Amino acid sequence: MNRTPEVAIIGGGWAGLAAAVELCAAGARVVVFEAAKQLGGRARRVDVHGHALDNGQHILIGAYRETLRLMRLVGADEDASLKRLPLELNYPGANFRLRLPRLPKPLHLAVGLLSARGCSLGAKFSAARFMQALQASDFALTTDCTVAELLDRHNQRGAIRRLMWEPLCLAALNTPPEHASAQIFANVLRDSLGGSRADTDLLLPTVDLGLLFPEHAARFIERHGGSIRLSTRVESVTRSRADTHLCINGESFAHVIVATAPQHAARLLQPHPETETIVRTLADYCYEPIGTVYLGYPSEVRLPFPMLGMDEGKPGQFGQWVFDRGQLGGAHGVMGFVLSAEGTWDECDNAVLADALHRELQTMLGRSLPPPHWHQVIRERRATFSCRPNLPRPPRRTPVGELWLAGDYVCADYPATLEGAVRSGIQTACEVLKATS
Ligand SMILES: Cc1cc2nc3c(=O)[nH]c(=O)nc-3n(C[C@H](O)[C@H](O)[C@H](O)COP(=O)(O)OP(=O)(O)OC[C@H]3O[C@@H](n4cnc5c(N)ncnc54)[C@H](O)[C@@H]3O)c2cc1C
Repeated sequence: MNRTPEVAIIGGGWAGLAAAVELCAAGARVVVFEAAKQLGGRARRVDVHGHALDNGQHILIGAYRETLRLMRLVGADEDASLKRLPLELNYPGANFRLRLPRLPKPLHLAVGLLSARGCSLGAKFSAARFMQALQASDFALTTDCTVAELLDRHNQRGAIRRLMWEPLCLAALNTPPEHASAQIFANVLRDSLGGSRADTDLLLPTVDLGLLFPEHAARFIERHGGSIRLSTRVESVTRSRADTHLCINGESFAHVIVATAPQHAARLLQPHPETETIVRTLADYCYEPIGTVYLGYPSEVRLPFPMLGMDEGKPGQFGQWVFDRGQLGGAHGVMGFVLSAEGTWDECDNAVLADALHRELQTMLGRSLPPPHWHQVIRERRATFSCRPNLPRPPRRTPVGELWLAGDYVCADYPATLEGAVRSGIQTACEVLKATS
């Protein structure tokens, strides 16, 4: 690199921090502007009833290569902060269990599918044939369609569809199968079930989301001469008088990376007429919520596995997954329930929702539980963009040239995930470095 670029990064979520780390590691000087009091964005720590919890339970998988690489680079201890478990979809209430054994590819998937409990042999072979068909086409669909259509086409029905493919779609894309992009789902399957055995592993955080990456990243950035400005919302990015630099609050930067959620990026781009096409694209985005409900039980309450599926096929049921935070490095007795995407859960008030989940958990476990001491409901209304078929993604470099984009929605191959955010941050940082070398 001939000169050291001064790069402003707007947004201290995982994409912005990934970009900052990558740039700092290459010797660039960066300033991160974050509107909130803390880093992490949509994957952050929240303090609830004296416990360090998260705004939403996050699941990582072994295929999150770039996230794991950056965690190591900034000094986060992967073994101490993530519990690695073989992929297990366990629905005690529906008597369904699929567990991938620690065998080399492709035996792990074949043996895992064939030994699944709670579905017919025909359904297991049909699921294996579906994966084979995707593999044969290199996971590339001729035309994108919805996940529901893809599953229909491959005759995926009954328990394997309801308790395996559909929950995987909802967990990865946070979009109901009737609306979700089959191509992006196929990409997720390519990198998870279609990858090595280690790629399929579940990585469940055993520290809060702040400690998982953002706080280590912040220390790394500061050690490398960068600075982080919390509680600093950027209202606009303007041109310097000589038109040579971009300015934020009167400060000049050679490059600015907008690493916010899409709706906030559109607001920052709007005053730049050259970005009109991108702004119009982002205006068409729809969003999906995620609800996280914590119930604080007495400490002796424990689940048979840290993560359980709750679907029993009963109409009106709210719970999708429940996590035993006590088995994940947190306080014993604290259960985290996940409610992905739009649904009737979002129409219930907090007390009704908490009570319904308590009752559903008892039914699922087949025993009565003491009433929880407390509950906390966190509703992220725009948790992720709705990952629809053929959703256009903006380019990393905007027509303004020195104005760049990063964020989960910019990573064209992925749904809204931590890995998508991190990959996009890294890719944009690499292009900024290339542009200045
Ligand atoms: C409840 C929930 C559960 C999830 N579960 C999973 C999961 O299990 N696995 C998974 O991989 N992913 C999951 N995700 C998705 C994942 O969290 C996101 O894809 C990822 O965090 C997005 O990161 P980002 O950096 O692109 O955007 P963001 O996290 O939105 O970061 C953008 C940052 O920009 C800041 N900002 C916005 N405007 C300005 C401004 N004008 N000036 C300064 N700062 C600004 C914001 O405050 C924010 O901190 C989940 C998300 C939610 C909400």
